[in-house]
Amino acid sequence: MNEIYLDYNASAPLDKRVLEKMRPVLEDRFGNASSSHSFGRRLNAMVDEARHQVASLVGGNPNSVVFTAGATEANNHALRGIFNDHATKQGRLLTSAVEHASVRNTAKWLGDFQGADISVIPVTTGGYIDLGIFKSTLDTNVKLVSVMGANSETGVVNPIEELSSFAEKYGFLVHCDATQLVGRKIFDMEELGVDLVSLSSHKIYGPGGMGALVVTRDVRKTLEPLLFGGGHENGLRSGSLNVAGIVGFGAAAELAENELASEMKRLATLRDFLVAQLRNLITGVEELGDISKRVANTANLRFIGADADAVMANMRDVAVSNGSACSSGAIEPSLVLQAMGLDRIAASEALRFSLGRFTKKEEIDAAIPRIVTAVQYVRSMTENVSGNGIS
Ligand code: PMP
Repeated sequence: MNEIYLDYNASAPLDKRVLEKMRPVLEDRFGNASSSHSFGRRLNAMVDEARHQVASLVGGNPNSVVFTAGATEANNHALRGIFNDHATKQGRLLTSAVEHASVRNTAKWLGDFQGADISVIPVTTGGYIDLGIFKSTLDTNVKLVSVMGANSETGVVNPIEELSSFAEKYGFLVHCDATQLVGRKIFDMEELGVDLVSLSSHKIYGPGGMGALVVTRDVRKTLEPLLFGGGHENGLRSGSLNVAGIVGFGAAAELAENELASEMKRLATLRDFLVAQLRNLITGVEELGDISKRVANTANLRFIGADADAVMANMRDVAVSNGSACSSGAIEPSLVLQAMGLDRIAASEALRFSLGRFTKKEEIDAAIPRIVTAVQYVRSMTENVSGNGIS
């Protein structure tokens, strides 16, 4: 067995069934979905179906689906589209310490340049937002709470319903970046009290460069667009529609909804087997994040005394992630793990394993000895230098 892909949280391969839905659009259904002739109407009907499929995945209204170029755009749109009131006082934005960079950096920009008052709420050592601190931070100036559904590095799920239970009393809107949650847990924006949801197609086996911001009817009336132009998507996102991408995203959303239960049962078994085997075979393995609050496909493991970059460099053909971002030439250990209280050394020893629809048991069986060998090798090298005594 050659390459083994255990990095589904970074991006999932396109499902062949999705490709088959996209194929006719790519091959011969040309035209512009906004045209009133039959070519346009045909495409528009396909876009409409996709709107229903995407809305259904999050319990939303098909008319309030805004197709975007991914979750990065959807997150930008949610935050910047709500904090649009430049003339008057902007109000407060509450977000968590473990958000994706597209929320974190948009929030920072709103604070630095647009007059918004930003509060970053810490997370517990389990990796979910600290509800006590959240509650003590609330007041009636809070305009938006933006908290992710599941964390991409740990898979830990946030208590969105509990956050939104304060929305009415304090008068704020709730945005959830559900990129890593949908398809892994049932998500119903109405039941959860969520007003804006961000989604990404390539995390659910759809085409890359596609996503959506799904909003409530009320939000649709007040949200400002990011892109101005011909007024597509109810005036919220101008630009001719990427019909093939939208059709693929719709098909992927339908599959994600229909296959969620069986897929997650299978992945939890596989993921737990992987972790148990690694723990049997190697000492000093810590599972990071509250494992009772995790989605089924993800495990973040710290191999004490083994630098994650070195493990990855010495591991034969297993694609995993160490969650570190490279900025200005310096490798910064995971901000998410540091926000959970790990020090820089501990955070630099963590590897994320994320499984998916096409992960087979044989691949897990083949990956285990490769991971064990790499960790032991790195530890033996480190031991030679510092004598850490862990094997
Ligand atoms: N939010 C989360 C939680 C993510 O994991 C990602 C992708 N890594 C994004 C947003 C950005 O998604 P996209 O690639 O569609 O822009």
